[in-house]
Amino acid sequence: MTNAYNITLIPGDGIGPEISKATKRVLEATGVRFNWDIVHAGIEVMEEYGTPLPDHVLESIRKNKIAIKGPITTPVGSGFRSVNVALRKQLELYACVRPCKSYQGISSPYKDIDIVIIRENTEDLYAGIEFEKGKPQTLEVIKFLSEKSGTNIREDSGISIKPISETGSRHILRYAFEFARADERTKVTAIHKANIMKFSDGLFLAIARDMAKEYPDIEFEDRIVDNMTMQLIKNPQQFNVIVCPNLYGDILSDLCAGLVGGLGVAPGANIGNEYALFEPTHGSAPRYRGLNKVNPMAMMLSGVMMLRHIGEVDNAHRLEQAIADVIYEGKNVTYDLKIDSERDRAVGTSQVADAVIEKLEKIK
Ligand code: NAD
Repeated sequence: MTNAYNITLIPGDGIGPEISKATKRVLEATGVRFNWDIVHAGIEVMEEYGTPLPDHVLESIRKNKIAIKGPITTPVGSGFRSVNVALRKQLELYACVRPCKSYQGISSPYKDIDIVIIRENTEDLYAGIEFEKGKPQTLEVIKFLSEKSGTNIREDSGISIKPISETGSRHILRYAFEFARADERTKVTAIHKANIMKFSDGLFLAIARDMAKEYPDIEFEDRIVDNMTMQLIKNPQQFNVIVCPNLYGDILSDLCAGLVGGLGVAPGANIGNEYALFEPTHGSAPRYRGLNKVNPMAMMLSGVMMLRHIGEVDNAHRLEQAIADVIYEGKNVTYDLKIDSERDRAVGTSQVADAVIEKLEKIK
């Protein structure tokens, strides 16, 4: 029997704990053995530790190298920065990988979609460099920028800075091309708004075009982000791997999740050179907290990605197949995968885990 894998599990808040429990159960049902280090982050640990991201959480991930987490709430306008963004920054998880795949049985006007979005995770407007309206520092920044750019910036502005570096762009683009090659994918599409933001998105695009020459086996194209949203709605099957700076990646991954059945089936991974953190695309959906109602499949599919990452490829395939079978059968699925007339027959989070485990036991 193989050794157990040491994995950090962060249950999160809102719906996080219930989907984490369901995910832990199905991962264990694959037969793979895990030593879970269960640690907590978010607003609920603030009082005890004075921070939403205690050091021991980061230490656990640094020790185990691999973590899986439920969503964590970022209260709006509280001065509390996102734990999710902080984890990605502190662990240098520069690549966010979000597959959006059509599973048979999901009610969607779109079929046969198999897109992977690769989103830069550390820069862009998410760098957290912000200046609040009216603060003395902000007025200084406005003065400096007005002088240097020759453009008048209103004094009652709030300012958010968008840094896009050559280093960051090279990392994410390299990751995307290598991913496409390793996953036997045929095309990479780079997303930007370089016609307007010439020195940030323009830099990203120039590096993408240059790097594409090193990958003659992979078709390369670029799209302006607004046009891309329209193309994704009209003909999503033309896309394969999409690589984006942070903000566009965030928006397009929710859009693509919508094409394949919603956030309930949209998994994700945050990958760096040393560590990997797996989590669903969706947030903590606080109004569903504790109701045993929401879909755990996005986090389960993040678990599938984790199994692949640690080399448990066959078990990853079995678990994905079991989830696909439950979706296809359409009986033991949550409300989000039911058509309106059948919503009252939806099952709860834990029943989905039961059904996946039952299918898993039948797959060799
Ligand atoms: P959300 O993804 O939490 O929820 C939006 C809606 O999507 C929900 O109301 C629900 O209808 C649906 N939904 C989400 N997950 C679902 C699931 N598993 N099954 C069925 N339906 C599901 O987005 P939000 O309301 O914008 O964010 C809530 C909180 O989550 C915010 O504080 C936000 O900052 C945080 N957030 C955290 C992460 C993360 O931890 N990585 C990601 C996104 C948002």
